[in-house]
Amino acid sequence: MKVYTEDDASPEIVKSAPVAVIGYGSQGRAHALNLKNSGCDVVVGVREGGPGAKRAAEDALEVASVAKACAGAKLIAILTPDMSHEKIFNEEVAPHLKAGDALLFAHGFTVLYGRVQPPKDVDVIMVAPKGPGDLVRREYERGRGVPCLFAVHQDASGNAKEKALAYASLIGGATAGAIETTFKEETETDLFGEQAVLCGGASELVIAGFETLVEAGYQPEIAYYECMHELKLIVDLFYEGGLEGMHKFISETAKYGDFVSGPRVINGETKQRMREVLTDIQNGNFAHDWIMENQAGKVRYKQMLEADLNHPIEKTGKELRARMPWLQPGANTKEA
Ligand code: NAP
Ligand code: MG
Repeated sequence: MKVYTEDDASPEIVKSAPVAVIGYGSQGRAHALNLKNSGCDVVVGVREGGPGAKRAAEDALEVASVAKACAGAKLIAILTPDMSHEKIFNEEVAPHLKAGDALLFAHGFTVLYGRVQPPKDVDVIMVAPKGPGDLVRREYERGRGVPCLFAVHQDASGNAKEKALAYASLIGGATAGAIETTFKEETETDLFGEQAVLCGGASELVIAGFETLVEAGYQPEIAYYECMHELKLIVDLFYEGGLEGMHKFISETAKYGDFVSGPRVINGETKQRMREVLTDIQNGNFAHDWIMENQAGKVRYKQMLEADLNHPIEKTGKELRARMPWLQPGANTKEA
């Protein structure tokens, strides 16, 4: 695997022409500010009167309607939620695309599942930071950067890869290293990770553990500490040092229990379910269902969200977290 760094990037190709950043949310704000501070000519395309429009103006960026921002740009980064791309692209972006322009995404979903059909004479590229926007901005301000993935879906100009690398470098992504991928690999692994492991898998594991203890007669507060609160300690050890990092810090008893009981909970059957989740992502069933859910007004989605938020672990958690001052909003940003 090749890790691309600043030495592989020629930022001029992006810096030499106006860049439109569409959307001013998590990624949009970070990309726009980093690009601007890296010397790019940036215009932010927003909905009139929305929170993004207000915030971008407060950040002293040039703000325009989405259509106007696109009209003047050579590179257009679409950084609104994935489900909004089709409409925004068809109504406000496509009419302003000229031969040789570049269309950039931060996730491959829209292109992989054919939600937009960019013309053949524009570059279609991706730069996907492996972290949320506030981290992308914070690391850039510290002179560092969040690693990112980049990909080329369509190379009309012959310089599509160069543009992707330049953009990655301008938002700080090449200092930590950029890895080349495809729209297919990025999208399928991203969806799989969040469904099977990070969001879906982890939350169900926590809830099942909490329920098992409470149903066996233990106090919910103690079950909460054991199954949800302390997960952070373990995840931090993974993040900093992998399995070895965790093993260095946990007790011998915890380690032995890990070895003998972990595989009783997560086993071949779980892995088979994971393969099924992956198949539904690969064959487009998941994307189709999610698009249909959106078109139907997200009724089921809202019901499932409600059910998650009404789970007893939430009531217990709220009460316990209120007693931990460092977890209160803003507590970690104030001077001690
Ligand atoms: P986000 O924060 O939810 O985006 C919000 C912004 O999009 C706001 O400025 C909002 O406008 C605008 N917006 C929403 N719907 C719109 C519409 N119909 N028309 C015009 N503007 C609209 O999005 P995000 O999380 O940054 O994600 C952006 C892209 O980055 C996605 O492709 C995502 O998959 C990808 N990505 C995200 C992350 C992450 O950590 N969040 C990481 C890697 C990649 P208002 O201000 O007017 O409401
Ligand atoms: Mg869940």
